[in-house]
Amino acid sequence: MSKQIYFDYAATTPMKKEVLEEMMPYFNTEFGNPSSVHGFGRHGKTGLDSARDKIAKTLNAKSDEIFFTAGGTESDNWAIKGVAYANKNKGNHIITTKIEHHAVLYTCQALEKEGFEVTYLDVDEYGMINLDDLKNAIKDNTILITIMYANNEIGTIQPTKEAATIAKEKGIIFHTDAVQAYGNLTLDVNDLGVDLLSISAHKIYGPKGVGALYIRKGTKTKQLILGGAQEKRRRAGTENIPGIVGFGKAAEMAYENLEAHNKKLINLRDKLTKELLEKISYTRLNGHPTKRLPGNVNISFNFIEGESLLLSLDMVGIAGSSGSACTSGSLDPSHVLMAIGLDHETAHGSLRLTLGDFTTEEDIDYVIEKLPPIVDRLRQMSPLYEKVKGGNK
Ligand SMILES: *Cc1c(COP(=O)(O)O)cnc(C)c1O
Repeated sequence: MSKQIYFDYAATTPMKKEVLEEMMPYFNTEFGNPSSVHGFGRHGKTGLDSARDKIAKTLNAKSDEIFFTAGGTESDNWAIKGVAYANKNKGNHIITTKIEHHAVLYTCQALEKEGFEVTYLDVDEYGMINLDDLKNAIKDNTILITIMYANNEIGTIQPTKEAATIAKEKGIIFHTDAVQAYGNLTLDVNDLGVDLLSISAHKIYGPKGVGALYIRKGTKTKQLILGGAQEKRRRAGTENIPGIVGFGKAAEMAYENLEAHNKKLINLRDKLTKELLEKISYTRLNGHPTKRLPGNVNISFNFIEGESLLLSLDMVGIAGSSGSACTSGSLDPSHVLMAIGLDHETAHGSLRLTLGDFTTEEDIDYVIEKLPPIVDRLRQMSPLYEKVKGGNK
């Protein structure tokens, strides 16, 4: 089987060739350390500054509000712990949601062990938070609200601007994990009113191991990585210049092509969803029907195991995911699918197909052709399915 189609853009994306080309010189000819006081260093510094400007522009932020990190995970850790530690004289209460990425959830859990108190907001069947719940959760000692912009498993887009407004009215710092939203949606930090925002390069056709944290000027946070004076003395370590340069190029390209990218992906997404739900019985779409990421399809198939489905798909060259890369390999069902109210079996029978810039209409047609017979075959092996089918006849 030579055919290989990638449907896991939410896990990571292939780097665009323009991005790689932009990075190449910084590995050898322009290798200087930006902190060095000579020509080599200055060239590195130019690459660094230019990437920072490009990323700031895509967010309508100021360049000195963008801090480079080693990825979305570090940005989330820094945002949350940084605010918690720097503001603990004001209070120890943090509000987040039950459907955050583990980079946020586990950081919050670690802070609980250190004496912070965390409220994990419920979401509805579509994965949407309730703004009244958020208001009611706020206490006098709340110092931070962290709510993801868009979910990596089910694609649901939160009312981030409204949530940030509620935080601002109470003088509470607001962070959003925008790793999935960045490069897919227009994000204006000033219009949104967020104080901190996490992004990552490898989700937007850039290199792995590089990300950024937007920190609004005046936001009180603590430095986590100590050492040299890099990133205005707030995040130490010699900068990953090739990675950062690639991130800048990927960001610029994503926002130059945003409209066409979205139009194409929404069309393909809706076609795939509609056809699969029509052609296969006992299915449901997970996540919000319209307020969802342009490339996200997440469907539960009753009476089958997501893992067997993934293996069967892999055999015909379709690379999907059973929900989240972080939960596959473990037997626990996805915390996101549990939070939207699925039972264990349904959560286990879920498939995430995420589309991106290299997805074609033929790829979609191929899945629509291959998936229904695979589901059918797997269900033939399920005693439960036979019973239900028999009962319905
Ligand atoms: C991928 C992802 C992260 C982690 O980013 P890395 O750059 O892989 O560390 C965090 N949050 C969300 C929502 C993600 O999708």
